[in-house]
Amino acid sequence: MSRIIAATQNKHKIREIEAITKKFGMEIVSRDEAGIEKVEVVEDGTTFEENSYKKAYEIMKLCGEVTIADDSGIVVDCIGGAPGVYSARFAGVDGDDEANNRKLMEMIKDFPFEERTARFVSVITMVYPDGDTIVARGEVEGHVIPEEIGENGFGYDPMFIPLGYDITFGQFEPEEKNKISHRANALVSLQKQLEERAARSR
Ligand code: IMP
Repeated sequence: MSRIIAATQNKHKIREIEAITKKFGMEIVSRDEAGIEKVEVVEDGTTFEENSYKKAYEIMKLCGEVTIADDSGIVVDCIGGAPGVYSARFAGVDGDDEANNRKLMEMIKDFPFEERTARFVSVITMVYPDGDTIVARGEVEGHVIPEEIGENGFGYDPMFIPLGYDITFGQFEPEEKNKISHRANALVSLQKQLEERAARSR
């Protein structure tokens, strides 16, 4: 098992990342477990890639170990791609899922279903102590609905119906979401890049 420090402190994300990466032989260690004091990484980038790199790099600098970060969000087409990189603090307070969902429901409620196309995006960055970096992006397409259905998942999950399904991520069993989610797709891409790296150094 290779030890990797998670820059993210979102427990839902860590749980999802852990569920998938353990199949790849990685042990995800939280920032708290790694003994990193409370530091706030300012997410002031304008892309998922910028914020993801910033989180991974700053935490790697503090712990000196391989670090992984996820920056993610939902992009809704009929409202110009909002909330996008601002998904976590869409309604003003970072991580207030209830307020964020209420704001999104209000903004999309007058659009017909077919115009409410959306995608979840996850950019996962792995930074090594020598500065070497792997970036992996994953997406999942679907529609948003102006109501919340389902008790599972977190964030915008109860408002998102992935393409090809008629239930929201909030109604998915966690292991089912972990097979098709943006985060799962990003981690598959990460795994592929790790394998290519290993093959090159053989
Ligand atoms: P970050 O910590 O800036 O990457 O915040 C990501 C935000 O996007 C979260 O607070 C959620 O609101 C939303 N988000 C990201 N991934 C998911 C997901 O898998 N389900 C639901 N919401 C998500």
